[in-house]
Order: sequence, then structure tokens, then C-alpha cells
Amino acid sequence: MKESTAMQNLPPYLFARIEKKIEAARQQGLDVINLGIGDPDQPTPQHIIAALVQASHDPANHQYPSSVGLLRYREAVSRWYQSRFGVDLDPSTEVVSLLGSKEGIAHISMAYLDAGDINLVPDPGYPVYGIGTQLAGGTPYIMPLKEENGYLPVLEDIPDHVAKQAKLMFINYPNNPTGAVADREFYRKVVEFARSYDILVCHDAAYSEISFDGYQAPSFLEIPGAKEVGVEFHSLSKTYNMTGWRVGWMAGNPEAVEVMGRFKSNVDSGVFQAIQYAGIAALEGPQDSVDQLRKMYQERRDAAIEGMRQLGWSFQAPQGGFYMWVKVPPGYTSAGYCEYILEKAQVILTPGNGYGQYGEGYFRIALTVEASRITEALQRIQKL
Ligand SMILES: *Cc1c(COP(=O)(O)O)cnc(C)c1O
Repeated sequence: MKESTAMQNLPPYLFARIEKKIEAARQQGLDVINLGIGDPDQPTPQHIIAALVQASHDPANHQYPSSVGLLRYREAVSRWYQSRFGVDLDPSTEVVSLLGSKEGIAHISMAYLDAGDINLVPDPGYPVYGIGTQLAGGTPYIMPLKEENGYLPVLEDIPDHVAKQAKLMFINYPNNPTGAVADREFYRKVVEFARSYDILVCHDAAYSEISFDGYQAPSFLEIPGAKEVGVEFHSLSKTYNMTGWRVGWMAGNPEAVEVMGRFKSNVDSGVFQAIQYAGIAALEGPQDSVDQLRKMYQERRDAAIEGMRQLGWSFQAPQGGFYMWVKVPPGYTSAGYCEYILEKAQVILTPGNGYGQYGEGYFRIALTVEASRITEALQRIQKL
């Protein structure tokens, strides 16, 4: 049976070649340092695990959950938004649970797009924005994120006829892969733009709690009028080292939350309730683990900065997220340089073109290994 055109048209899996080389290096018994994966290396805090264990014993949690999430979970999200951002969210109409934010990001296009509709998608960016658009039969329109613009899209560059046809706009700050952050002024412009072209803004805030040097990322929903034009995707994955648990939410515009809830009631049956109780424990319990996490990533970032300065690499110190976005040396492509480093230094870097055409010429380092390993990786590269 032939797969759909949309499936056939998905971008090729760029990391396949690299994965073969990693496998080969490991087969030879070489010590590979993986600066490639964007998956926290630390465990989920104990009190969250304890809440899961306790809730999993209650037979009430063994049945189908509500597809939009327990009201108690949505209340926890709403209270967290109030205390963290000063944003008011009605838990019954402005929050919907997700099986991780990726699930919602991938599905929202199916709930909003007809064949040929356009989504505005950042490049470089998390591949799911464009892939979800394509799987829904839509067309991504690329918003280039360039260093000279602080990796923010330039809204004035989007042609009028494109903006008029666009249904969704994806943005993501603190940003994966560039480490850039956005201020409220940028979000105000986005709200205005979305209002004048009738676009639903989808802000991916997965890294809002991972930031450095005292910086605290704002929520898009803090901006007056944001809730009329947009939603925010969020999850516990990065803040509480819970990538494997698959639990997140979408919050904001009540019509969009209703549409998403209705979509999900037809596609899945929500998040295992015991995991939702663990999520409540995460959001309402002690937050010192989050402070420690920020401190840990900052130490790793500083170790990376130190090593990279010695290498003479060109980069900007990130204020948020757990990635560093670095220019490849002259004469190399992204893929060529990453392959070279893997072969000669057994260090895995992620080629920037995996995040879109404007990622070409860059590579990404993830701060998901210990500082000493980051230092060692950079020393190995320096020796070349
Ligand atoms: C990790 C990540 C997410 C979170 O995905 P979950 O499905 O919530 O685990 C979302 N967006 C970006 C850009 C990410 O890097």
C-alpha cells in the first residue's frame, strides 16, 4: 500500500547518516560524547514520582480519563500561570491537557487547516511546526530567523497576500535551536499582526523555565489582547525532567481550547490520570528542583562558553533553553562539519540544517551532559 503524498513529502531524516556513524564508533569501543540530544539527562524529582505511585493505586485512575484533562489538573496549570506570569486562565475553558506539547503542536494544524491553507513557520525551528502543517495538507510559509534580527521573525517581511491566507503562526522562545529569547515588545507586535490578519498565534513555551543570569522568560499570554489571538503550548518535559511522561497543555484562547478539546476527544482519550496527579505535584510542589536545574544548565553553559572561546568559535551566549547555536568554520557545510567532528573527535553535534534551510551554516550543542564532558568534548575538538 502506498503511503499518502503528505507522508512522502516529509523532509528526509537528516540524522540517519550520523546515527550510522555513531553506531560504528560505539561498535569500535570508542568513547562518544553526545552533545546532540535535547533530552534532559537528570531524573524526575522524587516527590513527583511518589505522586504517580500513589495515584496509580487508585482504581478510579485506571479508567479512561477525560480527553481535556482532569479539572484539578487544569486548575493546577491555571494557578501556576497566575503565580508565575500573573496571567488569568479559566481552568474549565482556557486550558486543555496534552500528551506532551508535541502532540498538540502536531495536531492543531489538523483542527484548523483545509487543503492549501498556510501556516507561518520559523526556520530554523522545531521540525514539528512544519511537519504538522504538511500532514494536515497545509503549506508552511517560512519565517527566517536570522542572527542579525536576534533570531526573531521580521513580521514586516511577510507578504500581505501570505499573511491574509495564513491561519496559524508558530513561535518559540526561549528558542530551540538558537537559544534566543523574545521580549514583551516583540509579543506586542505579534498580537497586533495576528489581530489585523486574523491569525491564531501558537507560542511554544517549552523552555520558559530554563533561563540564565537571572533572566525570566515572559509568557506570550501576558500581553494585553494575546488571549484573543493566541494559545501557548507548554509541558512538564523540560522543567521537571519529564520528557518520557508525555504530559503537557495548551492554554489561552477559549475557542481554540474548545476546538482542540473536541479534536482530541475524537483522536485520543487524554492523559493517564495518575500522570496528571504527578503533574499537579510538579506544578504545586516545591520548586527548588527547578532552581537547581537552572543552576546546573548555567554551569554547563559557562563550561561550554569557556571551551568555545578558546576554540575561537562564533556564538552568542544563550539566555534561555539548553542549547548553543554555533557557526560552522569556513569551508564546511553543517552536515560535513558534524560528520568530521564525529569521526575525528567522537563528539556528536547536531547539524543546523536539520532545523530548516536557514539552519545551514550552524550546528547545535545540547547542554544535556555534565560540564566535565562538555569541556572534554571541546578539548578533543581543539586538538584537531
Ligand atoms: C522539547 C520540546 C518541546 C516539548 O515537547 P513535549 O512533547 O512536551 O515533550 C516542545 N517544543 C520544543 C521546541 C522542544 O524542544
